[in-house]
Amino acid sequence: MPNNPYTWLEQSLATIHRADWYRSVQTMQSRPGAVVQLEGCQVINFASNDYLGLAGDERLIQAAVAATQEFGAGSTGSRLLSGHRELHKELEKAIASLKQTEEALVFSSGYLANLGTIAALVGKRDLILSDQYNHSSLKNGAILSGAGVVEYAHSDIEDLKRQLAKHRTQYRRCLIITDTVFSMDGDICQLPEILAIAQDFNCMVLVDEAHATGVLGATGAGGVEHFGCTGQPLIQVGTLSKALGSLGGYVAGSATLIDFLRNRAPSWIYTTALSPADTAAALAAVGIIQQEPERRTKLSWNVETLQQLIQEKLPLLKVLPSESPILCFQLATATDALMAGKQLKAAGIFAPAIRPPTVPTSRIRISVMATHELAHLQKLVNVLEGMNSPQ
Ligand SMILES: *Cc1c(COP(=O)(O)O)cnc(C)c1O
Repeated sequence: MPNNPYTWLEQSLATIHRADWYRSVQTMQSRPGAVVQLEGCQVINFASNDYLGLAGDERLIQAAVAATQEFGAGSTGSRLLSGHRELHKELEKAIASLKQTEEALVFSSGYLANLGTIAALVGKRDLILSDQYNHSSLKNGAILSGAGVVEYAHSDIEDLKRQLAKHRTQYRRCLIITDTVFSMDGDICQLPEILAIAQDFNCMVLVDEAHATGVLGATGAGGVEHFGCTGQPLIQVGTLSKALGSLGGYVAGSATLIDFLRNRAPSWIYTTALSPADTAAALAAVGIIQQEPERRTKLSWNVETLQQLIQEKLPLLKVLPSESPILCFQLATATDALMAGKQLKAAGIFAPAIRPPTVPTSRIRISVMATHELAHLQKLVNVLEGMNSPQ
């Protein structure tokens, strides 16, 4: 038999199956919302990042349709060549206004925003300090940049200080990178402390506001606003695809930073501009976030109510500490998590099992939305009560 250089793929998949780490897709057959049709079953949706229920909002849909009618389906090129439209500029202005920064720049996804920004800001002679639980896009951005990367223990300010004291002087520039809301745990970074240390050690700070934008802060600006750090010298990255209900990413910061990124961020320069539909939908979403604070009020009410119900009815459930709409129930093994996910689905609840290597420990991850009704939260708690495995 001739050599087959691809046989290892099947062996590798078999290993993934044996560990119960195998992943596959599930088809959603309806518009996004609190209740959706999933593989032929109606389920209450606790798996969505659409925190404010905007992805299915008629105003976003109409904005996308109108932009498509006027400007076409695709943007036809990169922003620096044929891809730039007035809509992109309007969206960037709107994001800068929400974030209270001088300027903003939109990317084709949050993932690309992190890759391009980190790679533009630091290189071989520089150092990155990265929280151990950071999102994949921050970690891969750090690798892509070629900088020296040191991970500090999750949200451990003392460890961050220790690592800086040990390594900082051997490098030129230094960048601290962290999620504000940690995507797979739901807790928040200690931003004021991180900013103070950054000043002591002359470091730049990049925060990933993917799960915080539209959710945290009095005006929905995110974790930076939540901590009263608006206007401080930092780099904010985020996504248009979570609370903003569309697709794309952004960076917000000083005019100089944005000007620099337009010239140096490879994942902005060498990729096609956001489509008219995505851009217009995101623009409509920023407006709604600013004009309808009641959506955020309802979201926090839902989160508090669910937490109270859990405390009352499920005192033994291992809930990870959270200060966001992301709530995780820890389980002993990947197999237990998969089984719990299946049981929930059979009972009409869509809440995915999150397993290694995405996270160090297996869990069921719940995202609360503003559009959940009390009955949805009660049903979740009742179903969990009836299950024995997560306790
Ligand atoms: C979802 C997410 C991203 C990626 O954003 P996309 O727009 O989906 O590519 C980046 N960082 C964090 C923390 C996220 O949760």
